[in-house]
Amino acid sequence: MLAPDRERSAGKQGMIAETHEEQAQRARAILRKLKRHRPDARIELNFSTPLELLVATVLAAQCTDQRVNEVTRSLFTRYRSAQDYAQADPHTLEREIEATGFFRQKAKALIGIGGELGTKHGGKVPQTLEELVALPGVGRKTANVVLGSALGIAAGIVVDTHVQRVARRTALSAQTAPEKIEADLMELPPKRDWIAFGMHYTLHGRYLCIARKPLCSRCPILDLCPQFEVSNPQ
Ligand code: SF4
Repeated sequence: MLAPDRERSAGKQGMIAETHEEQAQRARAILRKLKRHRPDARIELNFSTPLELLVATVLAAQCTDQRVNEVTRSLFTRYRSAQDYAQADPHTLEREIEATGFFRQKAKALIGIGGELGTKHGGKVPQTLEELVALPGVGRKTANVVLGSALGIAAGIVVDTHVQRVARRTALSAQTAPEKIEADLMELPPKRDWIAFGMHYTLHGRYLCIARKPLCSRCPILDLCPQFEVSNPQ
């Protein structure tokens, strides 16, 4: 018999009829297959320090990782510390990051982040989700990216637009709000797999389970996916 929350999901969203334990087993099987499919998976933003990944992730909002990497290649040679960002001239920084889009808001956020890291965290990137999301322009997704990929800390699961889409198509969450999807996903794989899960779902959504026409015929988890909300698979 379905757990009450699963029954609700099934009725409202057309979720498949499975218990929470069955869903968790399926999520673990999905991750095993995605790991086999992409054994060298890594974050595609270039960085060498937690600060650089924090800056790159802020710049990556509404922008491709490739474009961000082009911008940060020279940016990171000029800005090496939190203080460098705190003391940046806004117009200069805006020009330097213009290619990533939304450059005024992003420059303001980076200058604010630099200032707060200096005044509250000794110039270092903090290592808790609560402290990170208190920084200007930093939400749970950015915080989880930095904690997971730069510091190896599993505080949550990265939920970007790709993860949102794949989580719904694979029926691991029927939610639409990122924080609710993250809460659903955090109940599925064990905590030690949270970082890998977010990374693999991100890459899977970017390259195979793409928004317009998912490449289901080439998908390594086709046998584990009910393909919800997919009208024109390829
Ligand atoms: S089978 Fe299709 S919808 Fe399901 S995860 Fe793969 S690409 Fe996405």
